[in-house]
Amino acid sequence: MQVNDISREKSAELYEKAKTYFPGGVNSPVRAFKSVYGTPLFIEKGDGSHIWDADGNEFIDFCCSWGPLILGHNNAAVREKVTEVMQKGMSFGAPTALENELAELILSNNSFIEKIRFVSSGTEAVMSAIRLARGYTKRDKILKFEGCYHGHSDSLLVKAGSGLVTFGETSSAGVPKSFADETIVVALNDKRAIQEAFEKFEGQIAAVIIEPVPANNGLLLQTKGYLQYLRDVCTDNGTMLIFDEVISGFRVGFEGAAGYYDIQPDIITYGKIIGGGLPVGAYGASAEIMDHISPVGSVYQAGTLSGNPVAMAAGIAQITELLKPGFYNDLKLKTEGFVKAIQDFAEQRNYNFKVFTIGSIFWFAFTNEERIATADDIDPESMIKFKTMHRELINRGIYLGPSGYEVGFISAAHTANDLEITKTAIFDSLDIVFSNN
Ligand SMILES: *Cc1c(COP(=O)(O)O)cnc(C)c1O
Repeated sequence: MQVNDISREKSAELYEKAKTYFPGGVNSPVRAFKSVYGTPLFIEKGDGSHIWDADGNEFIDFCCSWGPLILGHNNAAVREKVTEVMQKGMSFGAPTALENELAELILSNNSFIEKIRFVSSGTEAVMSAIRLARGYTKRDKILKFEGCYHGHSDSLLVKAGSGLVTFGETSSAGVPKSFADETIVVALNDKRAIQEAFEKFEGQIAAVIIEPVPANNGLLLQTKGYLQYLRDVCTDNGTMLIFDEVISGFRVGFEGAAGYYDIQPDIITYGKIIGGGLPVGAYGASAEIMDHISPVGSVYQAGTLSGNPVAMAAGIAQITELLKPGFYNDLKLKTEGFVKAIQDFAEQRNYNFKVFTIGSIFWFAFTNEERIATADDIDPESMIKFKTMHRELINRGIYLGPSGYEVGFISAAHTANDLEITKTAIFDSLDIVFSNN
């Protein structure tokens, strides 16, 4: 069934104005809708699983602010706690009991870390974790994987060069080559590349950093065996294993991917969900490792707004909900049913389309492959189909992140009815995507 394009008049007007204020009209690049049709939608409000744009269009939202909103938009418990705490002031730059409260909720329910430090974004958490690993091991090099995103700090804005084991090439102007030279980049799911890197740079690698559930460049699920292999290689070489759980933390289970795969990393980074929609990041490790951080240790890291009371309040309220019995199982079952219905539909129709999933994360891939485990396995051409799908879904009141490389999230606020409506919209959109090919 064909449908008309939604009206974007007000959004277009706001976007024109925004372009005079911000580079590209946005404060984070992906929001500019460069990979999909139409002007970016300016969002006015959200409630539960739904959002409304400036033109009054209503959508069922599967972007969920890129992951943080695991309870949906404007959750009552989070809103009430934030409102209560705000009455007493917004920031003190001194310790508050709220920091203890959030730390206690996390640490007493997570067996993989003993101490934590709150910061204000995922980028900051990862940047600090890398510094900690370098300070702890007294080594400079780090190893990352092509297809994993770790925020925008200099050492991590690097991509693979040609060859199995290479120094990174900067993936952004403004990153000194000398920084990129400290970052080794290899493909995911390739033990040989790891072996070669550890031979070539013996005794020099401070840390291996990975998204244990790589979810920023498609959903490139790794095997437990591979992650365990990384653990073993790091242990053998005195290298720290960093799990960047900014997406997977509190998402694939309360204990994140470390708990899901039952693998003990040396340092874990968090962000997104931990702040309940406010800017919070964190990194944690054993007490022994964390005590290398200033003021007890020699690794410096600080923040004017770190542990901000309002942000802590949002985190406390959200994390409290996540600890209720059955929370993750309900979310998983809901997601499984949704994904299976779409997968079955695509199979019946013989469409080159797969839905990859873990926990409450899903990724739509226009492929025939049963498994996609490396960035290279993604066919860039397939993004043309995603672009059409995105337009068709927007026109049917379904909001996905504006890029085929981004995953979608199901929140506790998504109802069975939301998912029924969404499935129908997806079926219709897929029929259109595949009708003109
Ligand atoms: C989002 C993300 C980051 C960056 O977090 P920001 O809060 O955007 O700085 C880092 N690592 C991973 C795995 C992420 O998903």
